[in-house]
Amino acid sequence: MKTLGLIGGMSAESTVVYYQTLNRLVRERLGGLHSAKLILWSVDFAPVAELQAEGDWTATGQILADAARRLEAAGAEALVICANTMHINAPEVTAAAGIPLIHIADSTAAALKAKGVARPLLLATRYTMEKPFYRDRLASLGLASLTPGEADRAKLQSIIFDELCQGVVRPQSKTEALQMIARGKAAGCDGVIFGCTEIGLLLDPAELDLPAVDTAVVHCEAAVQFALD
Ligand code: GLU
Repeated sequence: MKTLGLIGGMSAESTVVYYQTLNRLVRERLGGLHSAKLILWSVDFAPVAELQAEGDWTATGQILADAARRLEAAGAEALVICANTMHINAPEVTAAAGIPLIHIADSTAAALKAKGVARPLLLATRYTMEKPFYRDRLASLGLASLTPGEADRAKLQSIIFDELCQGVVRPQSKTEALQMIARGKAAGCDGVIFGCTEIGLLLDPAELDLPAVDTAVVHCEAAVQFALD
């Protein structure tokens, strides 16, 4: 089994999901007492989130590149950034380390295609929904993603940062997210991307009337496949 290097803490709430999911998947594949071999570098998210809000993606790139180098030096054989937004710095991470980066958008695109989805609704942070790095990568893989309107994007940003990243799950926010999905369906979406690794804390793909992909889960599946193949 190969050793995974996790860049986590963005937020800590979803890094817990990664740790649990990676270990569960390895146990399901290998049985018994098997668990994932991994090293976790978990950042303090507050300064990172401040830099995100300021648009200082050079500084966030330095933080992630530093984490990548530390994980490689500690023995990681592949890198996993436990967030969608911070894949904006995938180029810096790849340049800093001599080991592969398992890209969350690639895992997401493959899972959507396996479900026959071509026009997914992307639910994510403002940065992931509004900057080109994520949607362009999906487009290059044949997926024409749509995003909610401005008011819904603002609401989602608040749900993610003011609630989910702080361990708060509100029924009212779930209702609002379901309404966004209904509007996306009416606009022609044929699937949903939980494009923020905390959204699985609020919504369950099985409860929706459209096929949905939880990026945290499919990212872990890709990482375990790499580790065990
Ligand atoms: N975990 C999140 C994501 O998947 C949001 C936190 C962040 O902005 O890094 O994008």
